[in-house]
Amino acid sequence: MVRSLAQWTKTLSFPARISPNKSSKESVNIHQVSPTVTPTPSNSSLSPPVIKNNEINNMMNNNNCSSLTEVNQIYSDPESEKAIMSSVVYCIHHKEGCKWSDELRKLKGHLNTCKHDAIPCTSKCGAQIPRVLMEDHLKYTCPQRRTRCDFCNKEFTGHTLENHMGNCGYEPLYCENKCGVKIHRRHLSQHKASDCSKRLLPCRYCTKEFVADTLPAHHLKCGRVPLQCPNRCDVNVLAREELESHLKDECTISVHSCSFKEAGCRFKGPRFAMEKHLEENCQQHLQLMCSVVSKQQHQITSLKSALSRLSLNYSGTLIWKISDFSAKIAEAKTKEGMELVSPPFYTSQYGYKLQASLFPNGNGAGEDSHISVYIKILPGEYDGLLRWPFAHSVSFTLFDQSTCPEKACNIVESFIPDPTWKNFQRPSKEPDSLGFGFPKFVSHEMLKKRHFMKDDIVFIRVKIDPSKIVAV
Ligand SMILES: [Zn+2]
Ligand SMILES: [Zn+2]
Ligand SMILES: [Zn+2]
Ligand SMILES: [Zn+2]
Ligand SMILES: [Zn+2]
Ligand SMILES: [Zn+2]
Ligand SMILES: [Zn+2]
Repeated sequence: MVRSLAQWTKTLSFPARISPNKSSKESVNIHQVSPTVTPTPSNSSLSPPVIKNNEINNMMNNNNCSSLTEVNQIYSDPESEKAIMSSVVYCIHHKEGCKWSDELRKLKGHLNTCKHDAIPCTSKCGAQIPRVLMEDHLKYTCPQRRTRCDFCNKEFTGHTLENHMGNCGYEPLYCENKCGVKIHRRHLSQHKASDCSKRLLPCRYCTKEFVADTLPAHHLKCGRVPLQCPNRCDVNVLAREELESHLKDECTISVHSCSFKEAGCRFKGPRFAMEKHLEENCQQHLQLMCSVVSKQQHQITSLKSALSRLSLNYSGTLIWKISDFSAKIAEAKTKEGMELVSPPFYTSQYGYKLQASLFPNGNGAGEDSHISVYIKILPGEYDGLLRWPFAHSVSFTLFDQSTCPEKACNIVESFIPDPTWKNFQRPSKEPDSLGFGFPKFVSHEMLKKRHFMKDDIVFIRVKIDPSKIVAV
């Protein structure tokens, strides 16, 4: 328990309530009227009268030990004095736990031994210490005590130890870098500078800083670590990050594959041999490339046919857009029999395969004056499953591209195939050039009217209608 001198002094200083200069009469009156001094009740020895500590202190402690003399002076009446001094009181340290109680006259004697009464520190540090706490004080808190540092075992007085604590070189401390090491204070700075696994160290190759214990891992991948060319060429030392480009572009010994490897050349050799190989094998390389090209050509063809299969129209209705139409008419006038053909289309997913054809300068009866349109049956994938001859009705529509759809006036021609017509029998593998349709579909005069041609584009719809099958 640590108590300062000031605290003890405070405990011992009590305010004076009885002045030694008061007249005896007043004093007696005080005695008589004071609620704090109570005569001993004749019927009870267990309840001693109580004089409050403050008053006793005043009596006992008025700067000297003459308090009782003063009491004598105050109570000049010998009878009163005797009565007062015979009053039974508690020890002034009653509240601190002293159980003593006896006549007032014996109090002073008691205080000489009362373990709660304060006396000057026996080591002369100047503090007033209750007897009961003296041993503790001398051992633990007295600034004059002799004591040893737990760490270095040197001897100190109490207050020099306080200065020493926090500076003792032998106190074990954890390293602040959290490396887990506990070390004497005197070795700590040396540890942090040269041993600590968590100190920062620069990589000696790239000079970036790393925590010491991660440095070996960094060295395994640091781009600046010097390496030898694995081919042991005349370049002695390379930084790791330069090795790849060295092997690829510079190393005279590293083996490369011929640049025609993908085309099938199996030659491998160092740089100088490669130049010779390329020079001497032009012919072979050319042959390899030719076979690559023809292989690719096949691939392109099969991709194209796969693509056209995917983009085939299976709806039975073709909207055929023909652009630059006046140029096509003009061209057809100079080229006899010029025919445009539409992309093939199917009447349904597993139906007939058809194609429309158009003669811009007419054909047969329409030649030189009309555009002629025809439908052809092409050999299809599912012909073996279909009914022959083809008997769906076919209609051709030339769209009027008027901006106002209500006023548009399309030209439509349609027919139902005659079962005797050769053109509608199952087609042979050889595409049949014959079609059926309208040689005089629309005259060149009519084509110029309305909005059949707009932006030099015509739209022709070819619609196949299976609902109008004609029974054979
Ligand atoms: Zn006591
Ligand atoms: Zn002391
Ligand atoms: Zn120490
Ligand atoms: Zn450390
Ligand atoms: Zn590095
Ligand atoms: Zn090399
Ligand atoms: Zn080659």
